[in-house]
Formats: sequence, structure tokens, C-alpha cells
Amino acid sequence: MSLELGKAVEGGKPVKELHLNAYAKINLTLDVLGERSDGYHDIESVMHTIALHDSVTLREAGAGVEVLVHDGDVPNDHRNLVMRTAQLLRETFRVERSVQIELTKRIPVAAGLGGGSADAAITLLGLVQMWKLRLDGRELLGLGLKLGSDVPFFLEGGAAVVRGRGERLTLLPPLPTTWVVLARPQIPVSTTWAYKQLNLAAITVRPKTPAMITAIQREDVREAGRLVRNVFEDVMASAYPIVHDLKTGMLRGEAYGAGMSGTGPTVYGLMANEAAAQKVADDLRSRPDVDVFVTRTFAEVR
Ligand code: ATP
Repeated sequence: MSLELGKAVEGGKPVKELHLNAYAKINLTLDVLGERSDGYHDIESVMHTIALHDSVTLREAGAGVEVLVHDGDVPNDHRNLVMRTAQLLRETFRVERSVQIELTKRIPVAAGLGGGSADAAITLLGLVQMWKLRLDGRELLGLGLKLGSDVPFFLEGGAAVVRGRGERLTLLPPLPTTWVVLARPQIPVSTTWAYKQLNLAAITVRPKTPAMITAIQREDVREAGRLVRNVFEDVMASAYPIVHDLKTGMLRGEAYGAGMSGTGPTVYGLMANEAAAQKVADDLRSRPDVDVFVTRTFAEVR
């Protein structure tokens, strides 16, 4: 994470500001192993951050916790994960300082790209620094998990195998920079709905997670592309055939592999080169019902 600590003077009073980027993720694999007694599911997923990001500015200003949202259809109250993150830290560590959080959304919302969790993780890391809180990695992970199952992954970013509810991470070397096309159909899906559709006993083809790990360790993007697999994809594609159409479109255009991210509905392609990525994106943009983004795999140097 690159934290930029700026000190400005406003009306004679020092104002501390942090400018942060919250990067989205794609799931290269996603498997659901079973339901747990606490109602959550045990998953096994290889995740990778991508360059598409939201911007988060933390500023010592206002009263309590204030959230300003730009360019995004997300609430600016307690329903927003960045607000909940600041409140959780204030309560846990009895912090009395105020913070204004300015959030510029670029990651599509409820798209399977983990936008809210990414914002929460970067806000958590930023506030820990801004408020000079002392907590170890375990405590940080525990707070992250309270905010959402994907938050622990975003505290690290890069490439990782994520297990359990999301709290068990095995870090992997990031893939060599690979062009990624994202196609987000404008259909409403919630994670809860997606899990309800999933019949664990009926899943026949599961991701080959160990093979994906080996491919990543060998920096073999072609093989990683071949191994892309998500158990939610068939469920989603049978309810919304557009998911299948988008995947077929990606694979026709020099993709190493393509699949759905998270519980959908965004479909991504790992593209062989930039020209192939732009070509596929241009073709997909002719569809009125899809938002298209061209980005790359990305891992911050921390
Ligand atoms: P995942 O891949 O982790 O399932 P997602 O990409 O499908 O996540 P999000 O974009 O994180 O989904 O948003 C899911 C819900 O969270 C939406 O209903 C949204 O209103 C709410 N939400 C709360 N805070 C945020 C935030 N900062 N950014 C985006 N969504 C937020």
C-alpha cells in the first residue's frame, strides 16, 4: 500500500489528509466447499487485484465520521462500509478524533469485484496510520473480517488463495502484468441470491485450485487462463444467458481464459495483449446492456 500523507494548512489549522487507492479484484478460481454452522460458507478462491480502483481520501475534519461519495450509486451513511470501518475503529479504540472520508467510486457496485470490501480495507489501513493505532496483523485481520469476508484479502492485495470464510490467506506471487477486460451486464444480483441458487451437491466441475496455484507460481498466464473456473458461473449463466455470451465473446478474441468474478455478474477475460483487450472491449461496447472496462492485473509494492 502506498500511503501519501499530506499536511495542508486550512485557516491556520493543520489538516492531515491521506490519499489512497482501493483496488478491485477478480476471482481466478472460486469454489464453495460447504456451509458452516455459523451460516457462512467455507470457500476456496484464488484472487488477484486489478488496476481498476476507487479513490479514498481521509481527512481530519468534520464532526464524528462523515462520508462524501462521488460518482457512485452507494449510500453515504452507516450502510457504507467506509463509514462502518471508521465507526468500528473509533468504538474499538475509543478514538475521539473526527474523520471525513471522500470516496470516488469507479469500481462498479454489486458486480463481483469486491469494491465495498476494497474501500473498507484501505480505509482501515489508512485510519490505523492516521490515528497511530497499535494493533498487530491478527487484530487487523479480525477487524477486517467483522466488516466483510473479502476484507482480509484486500488488506494484503496482490495474488492469494483465500480459504475459510475469507480469513485464511496464502499469499502468492502476483501474475506478470496481464491485460484484463471486464464486462458487467446491467443485471441485479446479490451475493445472498447467488448462494441460494447454488446446490453444492450438484456441482460436477470444480476449480483445480492446486493447478492454478502452480500456474501462478510459474508465471504461466496462459495456463492460469485455462484454469479459470467459478462454481457460481453455471448458476448465473442459466438464470442470465448473457453471462455465457460475454464469456464466449472474450474467448473468441485471444483470451487466455475468461470467467465470472465472485458471485457475478461481471465476466472478465485475461487477454493475450493490449490490442486484443481493446478489440474485445470495442466489440462488447456495441451492446447497450453491458459496461466495459479495460484494465490490468496489479499488485502494489508494500
Ligand atoms: P463482492 O465481490 O465482495 O461480493 P461486490 O463487488 O459484489 O462485492 P460491492 O460493490 O462491494 O459488491 O457492493 C455490495 C453492496 O454493498 C451494495 O449493496 C452497496 O450498496 C453496499 N456498499 C456499502 N459500502 C459500499 C462501498 N463503499 N462501495 C460499494 N458498495 C458498498
